[in-house]
This record gives sequence, structure tokens and C-alpha cells, in this order.
Amino acid sequence: MQVQVPTKFGVFELMAYSESAEERMPHLVLVNPETDFSTTVNVRVHSECMTGDVFSSYRCECGEQLDRSLEYINEHGGILIYLRQEGRGIGLINKMHAYIKQDQGYDTADANKILGFGYDERTYEDAVSILENLEIDTINLITNNPDKISSLEQSGIQVESRITLDIKARQENLQYLKTKKEKFGHKLDF
Ligand SMILES: [Zn+2]
Repeated sequence: MQVQVPTKFGVFELMAYSESAEERMPHLVLVNPETDFSTTVNVRVHSECMTGDVFSSYRCECGEQLDRSLEYINEHGGILIYLRQEGRGIGLINKMHAYIKQDQGYDTADANKILGFGYDERTYEDAVSILENLEIDTINLITNNPDKISSLEQSGIQVESRITLDIKARQENLQYLKTKKEKFGHKLDF
């Protein structure tokens, strides 16, 4: 199933992926209709972050990454896969608990650890299945996260190049971005 959705970034074809037709929270795919599928496809694999994506929270940079990715895909072609793994896979309520820990002085990794979770519980098998379903095997990945590149490559997707998301650090998320850069090797330039 596919419907056209005009957005402030441009027009996209929207597709929903789920195991059953009753699924209320399917993964979503936004496709620039001009995308040339015969060549390497620009792909953003974006994990849901309700606070950042919908409410433009500055606690993280997810909302800005999403906007920047859609702008890029609108301009250069490509697809965005929107995975329903909120809060790096721990869900919104646990993410809020982690925010409370962060406000007590723990960094984003240690806050998750105290709550009994890994820093990053996300998985990318569903993104790989969606790419396979769309017959895409070679991509340019729009990401600052080296782990995402290796996860996809281990699943047989060829990542030809990385497209950088240049997001400015803000006072509100500077500590969060520093942790991402220093503890997890994210390619952030500040
Ligand atoms: Zn976020």
C-alpha cells in the first residue's frame, strides 16, 4: 500500500510495513518519487523519537536529524525508513526515566545502565527486511552513527558512502552529544 503525502519538505510516497494489517504502529517508509532505484539509493534509517521528532525537543538532536534527512532526500532522491524503536529501543516511559537520571548528573549511557538497559537497544533487522523488500542492496547511508553502518553491512547491505548530518550542538544537548561522540564514536563535528 502506498499513498502520496505532500509535506513541508516536498512530496513523498508513504508506505507502511508491519507483520499484520491490524498493527497500529507500523514502520514507515517515505520515498522521494523521483528516486532512481537503478543506482545507489540515499537512505536514512531513523528510529522513532517522539519528543524530538514531533515536539522538537532539544534534549537530543533527533528532530533536527529527521528534518535534515527529509530535506536531503527531497533534494537528492532517496528513502527514509522510520523504525518504531522509541528511546533507542527502550520505549518512551523508560526514556523519561533516563532523562530524570540525566538531570541528576548521569550521562545518557550511564542513565540507561542504571535502569538496566544497554546504551543502545536498537536493532536494524526490520530496516534490512524493508530494504530487501524494496530490492535495495547498495546504499549511501545518511548517518553520524558508525554502529548503524556496521549493523547494516553485517546484514548484507552494502554501504557505499556515508552522508553526514551536520547538526549544530545546542546548550541543551551539548552534554548528550559529547557522550555520543566520546563514548560511542559518533562522527560529530564540534
Ligand atoms: Zn531523540
